Amino acid sequence: MLLSAVDFSHKLLKETVCKGDFVIDATVGNGNDTVLMATLVGPTGKVIGFDVQKQAIETTKQKLLLAGLTDPVTLLHQGHETVAEVLADHAEIGGAVFNLGYLHGSDKTIITQKDTTIRAVNALLPKLRIGSYILLVVYSGHAGGMEEKNALLEYCSTLNQALFKVLQYGFINQINHPPILIAIEKKKTPYMK
Ligand code: SAH
Repeated sequence: MLLSAVDFSHKLLKETVCKGDFVIDATVGNGNDTVLMATLVGPTGKVIGFDVQKQAIETTKQKLLLAGLTDPVTLLHQGHETVAEVLADHAEIGGAVFNLGYLHGSDKTIITQKDTTIRAVNALLPKLRIGSYILLVVYSGHAGGMEEKNALLEYCSTLNQALFKVLQYGFINQINHPPILIAIEKKKTPYMK
């Protein structure tokens, strides 16, 4: 069965994120990605989650508490565009996930924006472990969504193919702008041992 963009992103995370890894949830939202990542990294790992909405942080804190997964997670009430400073002393990440757009059941005008999303991706790329992914689930049905999607596709299509593989995944016959997944994989470069 063909997986939805979100389910496919989860499959890719399960295949690459290991126990003890340091990973990023760039858009905590309702916490589904945070819970999955916390499960995958386990008590010896670390998930850093970002969200600009207090409500998202609070909801996710409760979800983690109920699941007994608070230990490996640090939730930051700040934009993912600050990820470079947060990761300043940290060499390697085992993956990162972005679930873009607005938070369902919340203010539809608080949306992720192309400039800040790209700034975050750009800061994460050098830290990504070889063989791991930066995953972007991109929604385009809301006001501002198509602009972010087009900017991301343009940015990602210019990434050096010697360093990264970039996949665009999505259904092309569905109405109402189904989300797409952009998956960026760090490649092993020929000069590496
Ligand atoms: N559209 C998705 C959910 C997206 S949630 C779905 O249907 O499942 C996106 C989250 O990103 C929201 O909780 C929002 O508050 C958050 N967000 C917006 N701008 C952000 C930023 N600069 N940094 C981190 N999170 C941000």
